[in-house]
Amino acid sequence: MRYSKLFIPTMREIPSGINAISHILMLKAGYVRQLAAGLFIFLPLGWRVLNKINTILKEEMEKIGAQEISMPILHPAEIWQQTGRWYSIKEEMFRLKDRTGRDMCLGMTHEEIMAWIASKEIKSYRQLPQIWYQIQTKLRDEARPRGGVLRTREFIMKDSYSFDIDWEGLDRNYKLHAEAYHRIFTRCGLKYFQVESDPGIMGDMESHEFMAPTPAGEDDIVLCDHCGYAANIEIAKSQLSTLSHLNMEYKEVHTPQKKSVKEVAEFLGLDERYFIKTLLVISEKNEPVIVMLRGDQELNEKKLSRIIGEFSFATPEQALEILGVEPGFIGPTGHKIKKIADISIQKGLAYVSGANKKDYHLQGIVPGEHFDAQWMDIRKVKDKDNCPKCGSSLRIEKAIEVGNIFKLGTKYSEPLNAYFLDKDGKEKPIIMGSYGIGPARVAAAAIEQNHDADGIIWPKSIAPFDIEIIPLNMNSGTIQIAEELYEKITEIYNSFADRHMEVLIDDRDERPGVKFKDADLIGIPIQVIVGEKGLKENKIEIKKRRTKETKKVPVNKAVVEIV
Ligand code: ATP
Ligand code: MG
Ligand code: MG
Ligand code: MG
Repeated sequence: MRYSKLFIPTMREIPSGINAISHILMLKAGYVRQLAAGLFIFLPLGWRVLNKINTILKEEMEKIGAQEISMPILHPAEIWQQTGRWYSIKEEMFRLKDRTGRDMCLGMTHEEIMAWIASKEIKSYRQLPQIWYQIQTKLRDEARPRGGVLRTREFIMKDSYSFDIDWEGLDRNYKLHAEAYHRIFTRCGLKYFQVESDPGIMGDMESHEFMAPTPAGEDDIVLCDHCGYAANIEIAKSQLSTLSHLNMEYKEVHTPQKKSVKEVAEFLGLDERYFIKTLLVISEKNEPVIVMLRGDQELNEKKLSRIIGEFSFATPEQALEILGVEPGFIGPTGHKIKKIADISIQKGLAYVSGANKKDYHLQGIVPGEHFDAQWMDIRKVKDKDNCPKCGSSLRIEKAIEVGNIFKLGTKYSEPLNAYFLDKDGKEKPIIMGSYGIGPARVAAAAIEQNHDADGIIWPKSIAPFDIEIIPLNMNSGTIQIAEELYEKITEIYNSFADRHMEVLIDDRDERPGVKFKDADLIGIPIQVIVGEKGLKENKIEIKKRRTKETKKVPVNKAVVEIV
């Protein structure tokens, strides 16, 4: 590719208020331009990088047997209503109506649509397992789009979904994805950690985030250099608070005012039918206890509105199914609920109430009818800053979430009726998982981790080009050698599929200083400098962008020396 024909609008002055290094460098080096808040245009260099990442994603997905498909971005509301996410997701979802007045939304993710197609097409265990994926646009009305392409309102995601007959199958596909994600981020040249992530309401199911450490990150990860423990901060806090459970102090606060659920639902803008609350309480024995509340119970509006963001289930039926409890259930709980409880305590979302039967009931509760317990607050649990695994001291680093994998179980297959007939003729829900990576975030994280004062230093695998040839002057001798090298490298390396090289030649009539500056800014890993002075000794220079090391090599050895 010829620089003179390539559209690379470099930029000197960056508008104020732009802080992330990746954002600054992508603008400066002409990779992207901003259309509006959270909306970006990828220019030729930027798009080449994204395509490099997408190719790696496709290769690694194919390796684990994933099949590429493509799903619409425009979705009918009904499917999202069936899982309840139409109601539980708030402003982040773009909603619209079609010409007939039918409610529609723009896809933030595709669990619903994937479960829908599975419900239509998968009938028998013989058709399972499956992994389907797409590299597709997602739309999310992010509260704070920031950092250039790190958090945009429209972005591309590689999202894959696994479908299995049982939990063992899900474990296998989850592991295959985790391994593929390791290969992907390693190939993309990222430094990253896999951390256990906040399971939120799906407390018993595993999820992991892939975090690229950089000061530009919005997330905190907790690391132990001694034993390799790595966790998302919420998880780490819950594990730390578990250790200090017995030091909790209680304080009585107030008795809730009674409010009808209808009023509360209205206040919160929720559909009453899907209204259920899960309250975490701590029993006298310091056991976390969970309380399920249905739409016919009376609640404390203020507490409820604080909790609802964290613990809103899609539908009452689903919630009960997931937790394996009856409506109005109150009691000491097992591991999965304890995990939710730990997190909620840490977030200040768990409350204590007296029990009228030791470790069992809460005061004033008639299951399924009224809720009138004495609320008490737990004072903030003191964190221990030691590793929950080995006791060594921990450190916290900022990181960018570049990928996330989830075990979904039957969360989507049940409400969308994705059932199959098992070997024994029994109807069973498909067990699902979902797995996402944002390629633009990968690109931006790579820049955050690989740059210097002069510009971007691309990892070779995702650079827009592998080599940039820089003729320093436009006299015929220099140009001729540079052009010959360009032809040769392209031809020779492209004849070996595994050593494919993409070459850029800076054929502009510009001063050497300008070419060097632009080359360092756009960050192609290898520069091949062809100058009059060197050619007198029949030599050219090969310069590594990262180390700025140069080596002179004879013109006739250039092609083999370059790689
Ligand atoms: P965050 O916590 O940063 O908002 P998320 O947890 O909402 O991200 P997921 O729903 O897990 O994101 O999506 C999977 C992947 O898609 C993320 O790990 C990230 O790489 C990418 N991604 C998510 N939101 C955005 C966005 N607004 N812009 C660019 N990439 C995104
Ligand atoms: Mg998000
Ligand atoms: Mg996240
Ligand atoms: Mg995530």
